[in-house]
Amino acid sequence: MSTNPWLRERAMRTAFVRRSVSTFMPGERLEDAMAAAAEQQRRGVGTIFTKLGENLTRVEEAEEVTRHYLDVLDKVKSAGLRAQISVKPTQLGLDLDKALCFDNLQRIVDRAAERENFVWVDMESSPYVDLTLDLFRRTRARSPRVGIALQAYLYRTAADVESLIPLGAAIRLVKGAYLEPPSIAYPKKADVDENFYTLACRLLSAEARQAGGLLHIATHDPRLVDRLAAFIDQHNVPSAAYEYAMLYGIQRALQQRLVQAGRPLRVLIAYGEYWFPWYMRRLAERPANVWFVIKNIFA
Ligand SMILES: Cc1cc2nc3c(=O)[nH]c(=O)nc-3n(C[C@H](O)[C@H](O)[C@H](O)COP(=O)(O)OP(=O)(O)OC[C@H]3O[C@@H](n4cnc5c(N)ncnc54)[C@H](O)[C@@H]3O)c2cc1C
Repeated sequence: MSTNPWLRERAMRTAFVRRSVSTFMPGERLEDAMAAAAEQQRRGVGTIFTKLGENLTRVEEAEEVTRHYLDVLDKVKSAGLRAQISVKPTQLGLDLDKALCFDNLQRIVDRAAERENFVWVDMESSPYVDLTLDLFRRTRARSPRVGIALQAYLYRTAADVESLIPLGAAIRLVKGAYLEPPSIAYPKKADVDENFYTLACRLLSAEARQAGGLLHIATHDPRLVDRLAAFIDQHNVPSAAYEYAMLYGIQRALQQRLVQAGRPLRVLIAYGEYWFPWYMRRLAERPANVWFVIKNIFA
């Protein structure tokens, strides 16, 4: 459903859908995200901004997105916000021209360095994994102010983790949000969860920390959150070596619990007009909501 234009057209105009998306998104404008980030900062929570949109078809659009992020980095600096940014390679033109995408990412990372900030590179569906890793490696060779998302549902991720540890890379570990075949991704949720735990422990290991790595534990799964907190305490992992990362508006009580326990936490705040595919993926993560929404769309 996230890729269905017919449904997107209709759903985005539906008041019920617009209302329900506001749980995950403070608003469509950057200003809405910045206001929400200031509020999070007062609670001791850092943020990450991402402008929704993917798979662009024109070079001009990629330029527009790049300029937008350059401006975000300036605005974040002037506002004194503890907000990083997260970008999708396809938004920077990966499908159109790889060299252009690399240049765009480089411009953003250079500006982040000037503004003492940090850029995360999202991981998209499996055909993009090699290209994204290549983009990341080349950018990371020029600046440490860039990190990459890796997906625990892919079998290959264990090997990718091993190859990135010696670089002291900042890694955001996620379960993975796309529909992937069992030939490349664990079909069972229990296996994905276990792989997440194993990979996270490896990324928190003394060897990874000595190399200078940083781990973003990006999950709302309370069981994983607690198991990894136990690992962190048991192995005296310093708070500079990791952060929990969650999406704005999801598992608020768990977020509060982490803050109260003094754990570092960042929430990713999405904004922009192109929220439909992203929203559909969020629903897919919680199937109980899906029928409720479908009934309301067609009612
Ligand atoms: C900061 C951050 C960055 C991300 N970046 C990427 C990326 O670059 N590439 C990528 O493929 N994926 C990314 N994701 C998405 C990720 O892959 C998962 O799809 C998503 O986080 C859901 O998995 P989970 O780990 O929270 O666990 P799940 O097992 O899916 O959920 C655990 C529990 O969390 C709660 N929960 C989870 N999702 C929701 C929801 N939508 N609404 C309400 N409750 C919910 C439920 O109570 C559920 O039982 C990112 C996620 C985060 C938090």
